[in-house]
Amino acid sequence: MSPGALDPDRHSLRPTRSRCSDRSTDCARRKAIAESVESAQLDLTAAGGMKKQHGRARGINPAVEPTGDGCLECLASGGWWLHLRRCAECGHIGCCDASPSQHATKHFHLSGHPVIASFEPGEDWFYDYEKDSVIDGAELAPPRSHPQDQPVPGPEGRVPRNWRSLLHEG
Ligand SMILES: [Zn+2]
Ligand SMILES: [Zn+2]
Repeated sequence: MSPGALDPDRHSLRPTRSRCSDRSTDCARRKAIAESVESAQLDLTAAGGMKKQHGRARGINPAVEPTGDGCLECLASGGWWLHLRRCAECGHIGCCDASPSQHATKHFHLSGHPVIASFEPGEDWFYDYEKDSVIDGAELAPPRSHPQDQPVPGPEGRVPRNWRSLLHEG
């Protein structure tokens, strides 16, 4: 049985079909939100301090565990996200490009770590920012996704009612 199926708090926030490619968006309002959480420039050294290893795929370190269940910067700043991405190099968990703050992509620009993996349950794709394409990945250290019963968008209690209108276009 799916652990999320019995959670009564999920249904009000769970989108019927939410993907980062959703196009419904409101430029002005999403910008306001993006700026309000923009100040969440955090210390990435903890996540970015992993040493490189030989004999593995570029940008992928299978031994590194994810930094947590949610976007590192959003959790610290009180923000929210739609979907989560995992840096395949250092384990940084960041929010997707449809999310208000786009912390996964910001992490790539700050760290130079080129590969992300989805951190959504049931998804196993890898994406290379520099190649701008989906690539073959590797078996990363568990967990491979956030908990099944964690709401999408998340985190619980921080998602505004009009979250759909605050998403970025894909
Ligand atoms: Zn974020
Ligand atoms: Zn990284």
